[in-house]
Formats: sequence, structure tokens, C-alpha cells
Amino acid sequence: MTQVKAPRGTQDMLPADAHKWETIETTLLNLAKCYGYSELRTPVFESTELFERGVGDATDVVQKEMYTFEDKGGRSITLRPEGTAGAVRAAVEHSLLNDALPLKLCYLTSCYRYEKPQAGRLREFHQFGVECFGTGEPIADAQLIVFARRLFDCFSLHDIRLEINSIGCPQCRKTYHAALREYFNAHKAALCRTCNERLEKNPMRILDCKSPECQKIAAGAPSILDYLCEDCAAHFERVKTYLDSSDIPYTVNPRIVRGLDYYTKTVFEFVCDDIGAQGTVLGGGRYDGLVEELGGKPLPALGFAMGLERLLLLLEAKGFCFAPPAKPAVYFCTLGEKARALALSLCDELQLDGYGAELDLMGRSLKAQMKYANKLGALFTVVIGDDDIAGGILNVKNMQSGEVTQAPLDAFSETFENLVLQQTILEDFGVEDNG
Ligand code: ATP
Ligand code: MG
Repeated sequence: MTQVKAPRGTQDMLPADAHKWETIETTLLNLAKCYGYSELRTPVFESTELFERGVGDATDVVQKEMYTFEDKGGRSITLRPEGTAGAVRAAVEHSLLNDALPLKLCYLTSCYRYEKPQAGRLREFHQFGVECFGTGEPIADAQLIVFARRLFDCFSLHDIRLEINSIGCPQCRKTYHAALREYFNAHKAALCRTCNERLEKNPMRILDCKSPECQKIAAGAPSILDYLCEDCAAHFERVKTYLDSSDIPYTVNPRIVRGLDYYTKTVFEFVCDDIGAQGTVLGGGRYDGLVEELGGKPLPALGFAMGLERLLLLLEAKGFCFAPPAKPAVYFCTLGEKARALALSLCDELQLDGYGAELDLMGRSLKAQMKYANKLGALFTVVIGDDDIAGGILNVKNMQSGEVTQAPLDAFSETFENLVLQQTILEDFGVEDNG
């Protein structure tokens, strides 16, 4: 039979990497909690309409990248390409926005986009996202950006670049769009086919085109910053002042427009040069029109999303030291049937108390069991034979020091837990136990 392979653009998360993902996810969620965010989980699929309206039907995501299908009931369904639209839908649907504001939500989700797979670009990928609803104050933009910076600091990624911009409100964009159309019309012939389509519908998208030819032309385009209305310009100034007073370094990049249509005013990206062409690890901004667009009351909001595969690529490129996966505290080697039954219940008792405990499940010889215990890196081993059971005493061997401690069978777990405690104290104080 031929083997079935994983679909193109997907990745299996293998056990050898599980501890890395666990470290990443707990670190992100723990800091999010300190910044006041609560976790939200929404369905993997939503009505297609949610993304057409929420992400914008002139975007690449909606036009080219969505996994859309009809279900057996004839509904158009889409696998979520991003997390914001679903979060807004859930907040509106469950009236979460009627409570005291701001409402701060965060999520770890898988996302689906039909893109050309390459390093840092997958068809199934994962995002850590946060959304803050209800405030239009520039201090909220600043705190969101500070929070994003601190997430990178948690992983010692201090030199990742922060680029910020303001893309104004629909008001300032009217005049800006006209200026962009005039500029790009003069270069129409050199723009790619998609950008020619963008020219009428949404000329700002051209600034985000990945084609080198279009990028070259975009470099000379008018800057949005020259077209901001008074209110948007003042908002941007205050965001920058707060970042300055928080000692958060940034550069203003007027070319950042972000890939999704719903952004207004502040947008930002955290970018690195260490993981190839897909260097944007985190992107976000303000989306003051989205809640209303999706059927809620008019309510300002802002958020960001971080690509976790790109974060992991970056951590690996930088040689980040993940804590190694936990090793079992004890391995029970067994000789005979009685010993097996005893090891099974001792393991159970220790496991319930929170210790990693293993016993032979393969019917191996004693020698092979010892070899396996070594391979697992168990802290302690206990060999159980009929004599040990009859004598009521088990010998617990510390695999690092070789020291053997006798543990009475009727108080085994207490004795064992003390031994682990002693070992931990020795390690915490960096003491080498040389016997
Ligand atoms: P890009 O310009 O790289 O296509 P984007 O603007 O489409 O990114 P967003 O929609 O803002 O990306 O998503 C936020 C983050 O999610 C990105 O900064 C990136 O880290 C990650 N991301 C987006 N698309 C993918 C993908 N196909 N594979 C892996 N990560 C992705
Ligand atoms: Mg994209």
C-alpha cells in the first residue's frame, strides 16, 4: 500500500519538539495574563461571510488564500485564516462588549491560508493573538506595543526591530488613495497584474506587494503620513511619545499597511533578518471600524498576532536554550510477576503525587531494563525482586552519585519524595554530590 503523507504546507509537531511549543505557549499566556488578557477559543471554521466582511474582500487573504468549501447543508464555510474576525464575532455574539471596558482577549490558534509553502510560510500555521476592545486612547496603542516588545524580551529577542506607522482613518485615506492612484497610474505598465487590479479597488495594497518590481515602484509613492487628518496625526504623535517615555525603540516606516483591510490609525510590525524572507514575526494595529462592520456597536479596538512557527524559527536561529524535557524521577526494574504488580502500584502512587515514574512494559531482561532506564535518564532506579518484597525493603539508587538508600516498603513514597527533595536542593545550590 502506498503511504499517505501530510498535506503540503502542514507540519507535524513531533514529541521531540513538544517541550519547545509548551515553553512558548506558557510564556506567552503567562505574560498575557499579567497584561490583563483572558483566553478565548473560537471554532476552526466560521461562515465565509465573516471573513469577507471582517478581513475585507479586496485583500489577498480573502481573494486568494482562504480554504472555503460548501458543507453538506449547502453553507459556505471557511477555515479561519486569522483570529481577529472570530474574536470580534464571539465578543459581539455573547454581548461581552456590554460589560465594563476595555475587554481584553487573547488566543492561541491554528490558521489556514492557501499560500505557496516556504520557510516561515505554511498552509496551516499557528498564531498567538490579542485583542483589546473599547478604547480609542493612544495609551492603549502604546501599551499593546510595549506588551509585544516584552513578549520578545521574555525570549531574550531584544534586537528584533519594531516598525510603526499610522494609516489614518477612512477620512484621511480618501485623499491619500487619490494621490496613490495618480502616482501608480504613471507606472501602470510596470506593476504586476494583481497590483493593476488593486489600483482601482484598494491602491494601498500595492505598498504591501511582495513582487520586487512593485516594491521598487512603491518606494517612491507618496507617504500616508503626509495625508493624515489632524486627529489621526495627533493620535500618532501621542503613541510615539508614550513609546519614547517607555524606552521602546522603533522606526517609523510609512510603507507598512498590513495585509488585512480593517486597520485604522496605528499599525506595527516586529521584523527580524535572521529567518529569511518571511521576517515579520508579529503584526498588529488598531481596527476602529471592525466591530461595527461585524454587527456590533461602533467601538474602537486594537490587537496583534504573532506567528508561532516564525517565532520558533527565530529562537532556533538565535540558539535559544529551551529547558530540556523533564526526565522521569524513577524507573522500576522488575524481576518476576510479584515485582511487576508491586511496581505498577508504586508507580501509580508516585505519578498521582506528581512524579514521573516508569516501569518495564516490554518484558525486557534486567540488563535491558537498566539500559533503558539509562536512556530515559531516570534520576533514580529501583530493582525489585522476590527477596526485596519478602524483606520489606527496596534499594533506591541515585543514578548520578551511585548512592543507594534503603526505603521501607510500607513508607516508600515518603522516603522517595525526601530523596528527590534532597537531590533538588543539591542541584538548586549547584552542589556536586561526590559522596
Ligand atoms: P506576510 O506579509 O508574511 O504574508 P501577513 O501580513 O499576511 O504576513 P498577518 O495576517 O498579519 O500576516 O498575520 C500575523 C502573523 O502571522 C505574521 O506576522 C506571521 O508571523 C504569521 N503568518 C502569516 N501568514 C503565515 C503563514 N502562511 N505561515 C506562517 N506564518 C504566517
Ligand atoms: Mg500574508
